[in-house]
Amino acid sequence: MPPRPRPPRPPRRPTFPVSSCDCTDCRAACTNSPGWFRPEQIEDLAEHLGLSVEETFRKHLAVSVTEMPDGSERHGVMPHKLRDGKKPGSVWNLDQIDQPGRCSFFDHGLCTIYEVRPDECARMIHGGGHDAVTLRHLIVEAWDDNALKPYRLLTKRRLYGSPPGERTRTKRTR
Ligand code: SF4
Repeated sequence: MPPRPRPPRPPRRPTFPVSSCDCTDCRAACTNSPGWFRPEQIEDLAEHLGLSVEETFRKHLAVSVTEMPDGSERHGVMPHKLRDGKKPGSVWNLDQIDQPGRCSFFDHGLCTIYEVRPDECARMIHGGGHDAVTLRHLIVEAWDDNALKPYRLLTKRRLYGSPPGERTRTKRTR
C-alpha cells in the first residue's frame, strides 16, 4: 500500500532571540519609542516593583497603539513615555505615538527594569525593517480583547484588541 501523503505543515513562525546590549539602536529605542510588553509580563513587572497591577499601570505604564497593514488600530501596553502633557496611565493615539519620548524606565543610560523589560525591548531588532514589524505584530496578536479588558476598565476607553477584521476600526483618524 502506498504511503499516505502528509498534510502540509503550517508556515513557520519566526523566532526572535533575546538580546542584551547597550548599543546605539537600543538607546535610540529607549529615548524615542519604548517597546511593548506581552500581557503576561505586567504581573511580573508589578511584582518586581512591589506594586499592584493597577498601581503599576497608573504610575509607570501607558496604552500604546499601532497601525496594522489593513489600516486598523490595535492597542497594547508599553512603559510610559516622557512627553509634555502626557501622564502615566493614559492612552496614546497614533499621532502622539509618532512623537519621540524617553521611556520612563530609562535612567542615566540604563534600563531600570532590565530583568522584566518588555519582550519587544528584550528581542530588539537592530536596524528595524521587516523583522521589527513582524515582531511588533506577533506581540500585538497577544493583546486580544481579553488581555486588554483590565486596561479598558482602568482607562475607561474603548481599546481594540480583537484580530484584524473583528471589531477594529478600519481607518486611522487624525
Ligand atoms: S523598558 Fe528598558 S529597554 Fe525598554 S525602552 Fe524602557 S529603558 Fe529601554
